[in-house]
Amino acid sequence: MSKTAIITGSGRGIGAAIAKRLAKDGFDIAINELSEEAGQQTAEECRALGVKAGVFAADVSDYAQCEEMIKKVKDEFKTIDVLVNNAGITRDGLLLRMSEETYDTVIRINQKSVFNMTKLAGAAMLRQKSGSIVNLASVAGLYGNPGQMNYSASKGAVIAMTKTAAKELGSRGIRVNAVAPGFIQTPMTDKLTEEQKSAILGQIAMKRYGQPEEIANVVAFLCSDDSSYVTGQIIEISGGLSM
Ligand code: NAD
Repeated sequence: MSKTAIITGSGRGIGAAIAKRLAKDGFDIAINELSEEAGQQTAEECRALGVKAGVFAADVSDYAQCEEMIKKVKDEFKTIDVLVNNAGITRDGLLLRMSEETYDTVIRINQKSVFNMTKLAGAAMLRQKSGSIVNLASVAGLYGNPGQMNYSASKGAVIAMTKTAAKELGSRGIRVNAVAPGFIQTPMTDKLTEEQKSAILGQIAMKRYGQPEEIANVVAFLCSDDSSYVTGQIIEISGGLSM
């Protein structure tokens, strides 16, 4: 029987690369995006790789929308074998200028979404007694980053949530891991200024930015049986940004 992977925010960037990589590995793909339209291109690219793919629109920060979406995915694909919590946003600004609303929005989308989706997809995996969950953290969640009080708080929480879920679900055959990317070329980082980009480049041992496919390769490993004894781990993928 084929396996199903649901990837949040997979209409573009890292999420789209993960969806395509998992499709190449034979998973049927449930693409989540804010709108149906935003996920269509990834769905077509996955289908071209010979698997089933569907778009499931939902704002993953909203529990009720996640509940509805998981129900639809189960109706269409029967099982949920992999969950990748990828959807995320940045709203950068220095602490003293950051509004409460900006702080709360990033926490809700980057952090609460992981609670929503892990609880709901985790329940489906519990019944199957197997599953792999991979969370997109960030080097900002490991080390902090000026201008990203909200983002680094959300990603630090995702790291703690990864370890907690791994401890709660491990005995039931469900593994939970995270990747912590450094600077990856996507629409999220395209909006940084040239000055910000070259400052980051100076700190990277490999002296280049990462590509979404380089995150997808590690996520695919964590979703596969090749990592069958790996859980609760945070893998940094940053070209040696920190060591
Ligand atoms: P991106 O902005 O290119 O893509 C994010 C996608 O998530 C978008 O398609 C967006 O529509 C979707 N999304 C946003 N809010 C959503 C919501 N509430 N519900 C459903 N979908 C939603 O970003 P990216 O660079 O591909 O980043 C993907 C993940 O990787 C994020 O969690 C990000 O924090 C993390 N990350 C990225 C980098 C990087 O350098 N790009 C570094 C570290 C971590």
